[in-house]
Amino acid sequence: FVQLIANPVTRDGKIVGAVLLLMNETEKIQRENLRREFSANVSHELKTPLTSISGFAEIIQDGFVKEEDVKKFAGRIYREAQRLIQLVEDTIKISQLDEGENPYEWENVDIYSVARNVCGNLKEIAQKKNVHLYIDGERLICRTVRPIFEEILYNLCDNGIKYNKDNGTVTIHLKDIGNAIQISVEDNGIGIPREDRNRVFERFYRVDKSHSKEIGGTGLGLSIVKHGVAFLGGTLELTSEVDSGTEITVTLPKQA
Ligand code: ADP
Repeated sequence: FVQLIANPVTRDGKIVGAVLLLMNETEKIQRENLRREFSANVSHELKTPLTSISGFAEIIQDGFVKEEDVKKFAGRIYREAQRLIQLVEDTIKISQLDEGENPYEWENVDIYSVARNVCGNLKEIAQKKNVHLYIDGERLICRTVRPIFEEILYNLCDNGIKYNKDNGTVTIHLKDIGNAIQISVEDNGIGIPREDRNRVFERFYRVDKSHSKEIGGTGLGLSIVKHGVAFLGGTLELTSEVDSGTEITVTLPKQA
């Protein structure tokens, strides 16, 4: 499915050349299908928390909730609303990356200091789960887009904490491999079953829905990672073992 558009270039009335535009129609159709599927998923994912919020508010309004339980119901409404906000924010991030939009600058980024920031931001969440965060490796400088890189690292570490066990660890490894750098996030948590390993990067895909529901999340974190890494010109690799842990490695060119 190749679409060919030709525009003759003329000089003094003579045709001296042509501008050819080759478009891969298959890719276009695939992108369109993905977009359609994404919109359908988003509507579905938005509807679930909205239905809960509306339902809880309605029974409070109708006086079906005892005075002492109102706070508990308000808590549920708050949590569902937070989930909605997260969903909307994640969706915006993905579509921006999809469109190749980048409101930020490319700059020389001290990767070690970003890793320290991410650990600082996740400290409380890690403490609550009794998971320990470590950084292992050298100071690296890379020409990249800081907020996008930070988001990638945050999502990977956040997952390392969420899908971990009591007293687990999450380690960020930083490595210089010549023209590129490698950042990997390793945890010793619950691991990802073989059949799900390729699918976890898909939008809204979550392993074991009932278990994941308890843990909380939108199913968009790794999709943002995938789009972000592609945007930065890098590659991704996942290794995992059920009950032993997961390691996700991002390789980024030093001069993208
Ligand atoms: P979310 O965490 O919001 O569900 P993600 O896109 O970040 O969404 O991850 C998709 C799914 O992959 C998660 O629901 C979880 O089942 C699985 N997963 C991701 N990271 C890990 C990890 N480090 N260890 C085990 N499972 C993971």
